[in-house]
Amino acid sequence: SDHQLIYPPSPDQMDWSSLFPYYVTEEDATEAEDSTPEALAGQGLQPVEPKRLSKDVEVADIGCGFGGLLIALAPVMPETLILGLEIRVSVTQFVEDKINALRGQNQEKGLYRNIGVLRANTMKFLPNFFTKGQLSKIFICFPDPHFKARKHKQRIVSTTLNSEYAYVLRPGGIVYTITDVPDLHGWMVQHFDAHPSFERVEEEEQEADPCVAIMRSETEEGKKVERNNGQKHVALFRRLADPPYG
Ligand code: SAM
Repeated sequence: SDHQLIYPPSPDQMDWSSLFPYYVTEEDATEAEDSTPEALAGQGLQPVEPKRLSKDVEVADIGCGFGGLLIALAPVMPETLILGLEIRVSVTQFVEDKINALRGQNQEKGLYRNIGVLRANTMKFLPNFFTKGQLSKIFICFPDPHFKARKHKQRIVSTTLNSEYAYVLRPGGIVYTITDVPDLHGWMVQHFDAHPSFERVEEEEQEADPCVAIMRSETEEGKKVERNNGQKHVALFRRLADPPYG
């Protein structure tokens, strides 16, 4: 259940500073010592806004699991903030601990500061975290298949959710999907193909994208499928520009 999950009322209320502490802007880092609401009230001031980062999250891994993709992407896109979203508490904690350990081990090189993990149900309130067009890439790797027809509404690709992905993704941005379940692959292709905001990326371009190889080999599920000699079905979809009004 997600009764305990907390969502920001809007993206500008989201405090990213604990996830990406190395990107907190200077002016916030040198803030007045006592900025508690009580102290500020005493000075006739409003509580401070959430701390700002020098850049915004640009890549999201939906249902990141144990974080293999995040960790592999971190050094490949060192200038980009990448966020994993995961619903399971213990798994989210595992990924957070792993990122902290990697940051510690790579202190000198400054690696792994650009990845973070957040516990969230991505089927709800995605636009509360991200502004319109904020993201350039969304990864949906080996989502839970929910085989039975009556469970299909729990799939994280659907007409409604694709509209949310379209909202947070900028024109030209890419949704990456991979699964070992042929029926789910068909389902994802069908729903993105039918959506007016997306077009399928041609196979040649897909195979030339370095993120595709990483998604195949570095996700925990991708490794498992490899060990079992299973098939991996990949499909990429480009966010199209919105048509002009009228
Ligand atoms: N992407 C990872 C990989 O490829 O190794 C994990 C795949 S695992 C089969 C699916 C993950 O999605 C699980 O960790 C599950 O907890 C998470 N998940 C399922 N529904 C979710 C939701 N609504 N919001 C966030 N995470 C979700």
